[in-house]
Amino acid sequence: MTEYPRVVVDLNKIRENVKFLTKKCKESQIDVVGVTKVFSGSIEIAKTLVEGGIKYLGDSRVENLKKYENLDVPKVMIRLPMRSQIKEVIKHVDISLNSEISTIALLDKEAGKQYRVHRIILMLELGDLREGVLPEDVEDYVEQINSMKNIKLEGIGVNLTCYGGIIPSFDNLGQLEKISNLIEEKYDLKLNIISGGNSSSLDLLWKNNMPPKINNLRLGESLIFGRETAYGKELEGCFYDSVKLEVEIIELKEKQSYPVGEIGFNAFGEKPVFIDRGKRTRAILAIGKQDVDQSNLEAMDKKIIILGASSDHLVLDVTESKNKYQVGDIVKFKLNYGSLLQLTTSPYVKKVFD
Ligand SMILES: *Cc1c(COP(=O)(O)O)cnc(C)c1O
Repeated sequence: MTEYPRVVVDLNKIRENVKFLTKKCKESQIDVVGVTKVFSGSIEIAKTLVEGGIKYLGDSRVENLKKYENLDVPKVMIRLPMRSQIKEVIKHVDISLNSEISTIALLDKEAGKQYRVHRIILMLELGDLREGVLPEDVEDYVEQINSMKNIKLEGIGVNLTCYGGIIPSFDNLGQLEKISNLIEEKYDLKLNIISGGNSSSLDLLWKNNMPPKINNLRLGESLIFGRETAYGKELEGCFYDSVKLEVEIIELKEKQSYPVGEIGFNAFGEKPVFIDRGKRTRAILAIGKQDVDQSNLEAMDKKIIILGASSDHLVLDVTESKNKYQVGDIVKFKLNYGSLLQLTTSPYVKKVFD
């Protein structure tokens, strides 16, 4: 018996997206870190990304990277390491992104204990205001890193469009390039990786406006959804529908659309607002806010209205639909980055790979 709710993943479509995007990046001498965090670390996805041609596997959590031990590509931890996880990071991660010298010093010490050399990408703050060293502090950082025996400065990088929504440009990525030149000349070293951001940098690449020294991008969303994320444009030649959600109907009844009685607060402390549409056909589906925020779902049946959700119930208005839904029927939804991230994190949602 098929179990629901489930996320159905078309690995062939993802593989084709990865092939297409890695090839396009390669034309500009850019290697791709394939980021798997939106799947909560799935070995099937990781394998598919490797088959598609990514050069590194990236994830924000060491627990996820650990699962990829048998895949023969370097593992990149794209979130700054926690002090409480230094041992695991040295053991399971080849390259980590860093911005705190005290953490890098701990990595150095632990790498020595484990007889390893740990490679790092020093992250720079170039406007988005999430992680990164301020440009004026870079030289001080590089000097200290160079004095560490078990740390190798593999490169520098930036992350944009994640917190501040700052769009990658020839200007801000040009700054990254300039800083890399300064480091290489002043300290007489070669930086192997100049990592120019995530899926939001693809638009710049498509416009042939990427500073030439950028040789690395960390891509997640674009590989799965076939879109760049600076403007949310679909990239021609990609699949946009590699994932979908299927959920089962557990109640189907005609009911009033306006609740009866005094309206107080709902289960989440919000005062709900209702539109009185009279009597409607309503379906309750077995999924809820514990699994996904309903505002990130879109029913494939365009006539369905998503009315709301509680912890474990999703309430739909199916009155206008041509489909004559019944209890036990399956309703399908399109996903976006936010809903896929939540759904793959829920232990109640099955993941099925086609
Ligand atoms: C999530 C993340 C990425 C991947 O971003 P996408 O938008 O999914 O391509 C890259 N780098 C860092 C540091 C991230 O946190």
